[in-house]
Amino acid sequence: MNPFRSLADYVTLQRRFYGYTRENIHQQQWRAVEALLAVVREKSPFYQDRYRDREVRSLAEFAQLPTINKAVMMENFDRLNTAGLKKDELVKYAVEKELAGDYLGYYAGEYVVGLSSGTSGAKGIYVTPKSLTERLPAVFLARGGIPLRLLPFRILFLLRVFSQGFADIRVPLISLAYMSTMSDPKEIVERVNADRINVLMAPPSLLRLLLPHVEEIRVMPKRVVSYAEVLEREEKERLQRAFGCPVVEIYQASEGPIGSACRRGTLHLNEDLVYVELFNEGGDPVTEPGETARRMIVTNLLNTVQPLIRYEMNDLVELGGPCPCGSRFRSIAKVIGRNDDVFVFRTREGMTRPVFPDLISRWIITSGDAIREFRVVQERDGTVAITIEVEEGADPDPIRAALPGRFRTELSAFGIAAPVQVRFERIPLPPDNRKFKRFVREDAATSAQ
Ligand SMILES: [Zn+2]
Repeated sequence: MNPFRSLADYVTLQRRFYGYTRENIHQQQWRAVEALLAVVREKSPFYQDRYRDREVRSLAEFAQLPTINKAVMMENFDRLNTAGLKKDELVKYAVEKELAGDYLGYYAGEYVVGLSSGTSGAKGIYVTPKSLTERLPAVFLARGGIPLRLLPFRILFLLRVFSQGFADIRVPLISLAYMSTMSDPKEIVERVNADRINVLMAPPSLLRLLLPHVEEIRVMPKRVVSYAEVLEREEKERLQRAFGCPVVEIYQASEGPIGSACRRGTLHLNEDLVYVELFNEGGDPVTEPGETARRMIVTNLLNTVQPLIRYEMNDLVELGGPCPCGSRFRSIAKVIGRNDDVFVFRTREGMTRPVFPDLISRWIITSGDAIREFRVVQERDGTVAITIEVEEGADPDPIRAALPGRFRTELSAFGIAAPVQVRFERIPLPPDNRKFKRFVREDAATSAQ
């Protein structure tokens, strides 16, 4: 990669993030959307058909274009991409790599191919051109919530799946080590000590596994970066106490680098890289801090090989307010989870009532300090079945005594009377690259994308 271009990218990304007014942001977004539409009108038969006779002269008109989702994207993959790539060949390539445990290399010398397994096993294929993966380190540096005063960065990256994209991150003053999230926590701690790691990046489920071993770390990291799963506020505070440093979140999806932390640690949308539209249940744009978006539609402004335009994400986010860092990029108060993580109950009056996963997490996390991991299943008959793993040697009895009552009280406040069961057992992380799923709704398991 070219360090000068990286530096230029870094400067641009920082300048936009802290210097742009809302008007600047909209202008830049419109220019990027216009350029993307020009590419697909020329090179993507799928979008040519969809957007035929649709004139788009503003972001408001853009918002009238039809949306797509993962199923539509996969179904039309061959006609959607602009590089003549064939889905069947890419899936075969990705699965072979997966089975061989070999994640390095480019497809056709040009593309990083990512395979995402949906909750119901529906595969998604995500292609990033080499020219773009080489520029992503600048995004990470400028928008990773890691201050430059921590240079040189010695980063340990705990990954579920390694890919060539990560191997491309080679920059002076930054050393990156990788380990699988399946590694033994003791080995991870040894690596942190041996490499004097100052930035630790891992999904929250793995950070929790490290907690009992934190005292064995000789020099604590200066930053912990959480990604890939929802990080609850209480949990973030607990991790900050344990590691003795700020814990920041990045919101990276297969669909693009959606959000990153600012210097204050707030999660902001990367408005110049991914155009994000948020709507409430009634279909109106979400503009007020504290409001939960039930629909999130993203447009990746960078990737013209596999253009994802007005693509429905399954995620639920709560919009945040202005951030003291000064950036006018919208902030995200929290990532609540996925739409199919929302439990739906019938109230005593016979109405349906959604309960968001962040609430359920909070009821559980705050019921005891010894909870290492938990999993909640809403069974078909409405029963809430909670499985809890306590830390080694901890006494589960206080949690066993308190939790069902807490749930009954909280649910009752919503007019819900659902049976609650609590049991205690070990909760292993998935043995493959699937995300750890804390919330399962049995009646949704078959309809999830
Ligand atoms: Zn901020």
